[in-house]
Amino acid sequence: MQLYLSQTLKIHNSLSGKKEIFKPLNEGHIGMYVCGPTVYSNVHLGNCRTFMSFDMIFRYFKHLGYKVRYVRNITDAGHLVDDAEDGEDKIAKKARLEKLEPMEVVQRYTVDFHNILQKFNFLPPSIEPTATGHIIEQIEIIKDILEKGYGYEKNGSVYFDVAKFNETHEYGKLSGRKLEDMIANTRELTAQDEKKNPQDFALWKKAEPQHIMRWPSPWGDGFPGWHLECTAMSTKYLGETFDIHGGGMDLKFPHHECEIAQAEASNGHSPVRYWLHANMLTMNGKKMAKSTGNNILPGEIFTGDNDILSKAFSPSVVRFFMMQAHYTSILDLSDDALLASEKGHHKLMDALNAIDNLETGNTSDFDIANWKRECYSAMNDDFNTPILIAKMFDAVKHINLIKENQQSITKGDKKELQATLNAFVFDVLGLEGKSNSDSDSGKLSGVVELLIQLRKDARDNKDFATSDKIRDQLAALGIQLNDGKDGTTFNVI
Ligand code: AMP
Ligand code: ZN
Repeated sequence: MQLYLSQTLKIHNSLSGKKEIFKPLNEGHIGMYVCGPTVYSNVHLGNCRTFMSFDMIFRYFKHLGYKVRYVRNITDAGHLVDDAEDGEDKIAKKARLEKLEPMEVVQRYTVDFHNILQKFNFLPPSIEPTATGHIIEQIEIIKDILEKGYGYEKNGSVYFDVAKFNETHEYGKLSGRKLEDMIANTRELTAQDEKKNPQDFALWKKAEPQHIMRWPSPWGDGFPGWHLECTAMSTKYLGETFDIHGGGMDLKFPHHECEIAQAEASNGHSPVRYWLHANMLTMNGKKMAKSTGNNILPGEIFTGDNDILSKAFSPSVVRFFMMQAHYTSILDLSDDALLASEKGHHKLMDALNAIDNLETGNTSDFDIANWKRECYSAMNDDFNTPILIAKMFDAVKHINLIKENQQSITKGDKKELQATLNAFVFDVLGLEGKSNSDSDSGKLSGVVELLIQLRKDARDNKDFATSDKIRDQLAALGIQLNDGKDGTTFNVI
């Protein structure tokens, strides 16, 4: 029997604003779409938090035995600077500034995105479609919207008619806005504006002669509006109505609101049954963002090469830090928080490593069945990872007491404890690795410390060829040496 049959999962649905019992459209199967990155620069840690929240959700669904089709797109066209309706495409702008082909920009940052996600131990999505690979599908949806009277063409561009849509539908239902209020709060249109109303959004934009990312369409050469790609790709791979759509909170409006409007206008259905929004990672109390410079790159954390943190932190420690907060809560990054997470991570891994050698007895002082139920209850309550982690530490406490012969555990319970911990820590939370005190990484530390000492000896003897060789060859193996005022430390990247 699949696990999901015995679990009642509740999810906070942003559309209703309530926690709802989750029931997929087709029993045992889940269709999930998450808005992916716009690949015009390196992903920062804030972006990673949103994707990690959905990686954890994907992992839990899989753990419960669901067959999940998880679609996470790559935005490689149509997303304009400042998320505006007019202006330059983010990728085209980067290509112009760096004298690259737009697809070179896309390739560079898609590779970076994949590398970082791999370091964080993400599971790959089932499909990772690109906006430029789905221009034809986007054009078809625009034709449909025009045919149904919810769009209009102006000078080679096509806009969505929000006021017309709102006559029979509810524009703003996801973000809790009312069209009348939006109208009251916006500036008047100027004579040059092509839109009928400021709330209207572009489905297709005419490409000016200098615009290099352009495709032919029934309305002339142009490019699709940003919101349209997600409607096209989610409909194509998951159907007109599917189970889950996710993204960061900041995408709720206008991006997701517009996705709902496009889908309802073109096929008459509400596209998504459960809308999930992950909250923001902040730094110094402010949203981490590319545009403001208030951000840190994952690579800078793994190497310790930054001015914000006192040392390097491994990807699994950063992941643990993220999982200690509920995905709908704001989380602030700080050195203290990461140091505390590192301690917790080591403690957890130490306990996991100790289980194998625990002696078993005739009785158990730990009610494993009840503890296991509580672990599932935490995850079934809208993926409450902080409570799950607290449960993991309940188990750690018992493991340590058993180790010190102050408590005992039966053979059967030990097996159950180990299997459950492994499932939640590695499969669901996606943590990795063992603590520094376990035997393999202890040996690795010993070998690297020896090389650090040999490098220091070489430098003291002014044998820089040897000292550089040690540093470079360790770097090639993914071991980074960091020289500081208190000596040299290393981290595995
Ligand atoms: P973008 O590449 O700008 O389209 O953003 C990719 C994803 O990162 C979106 O789902 C955003 O909501 C999310 N995101 C951007 N900034 C943050 C942040 N500071 N914390 C969490 N998620 C973020
Ligand atoms: Zn999207």
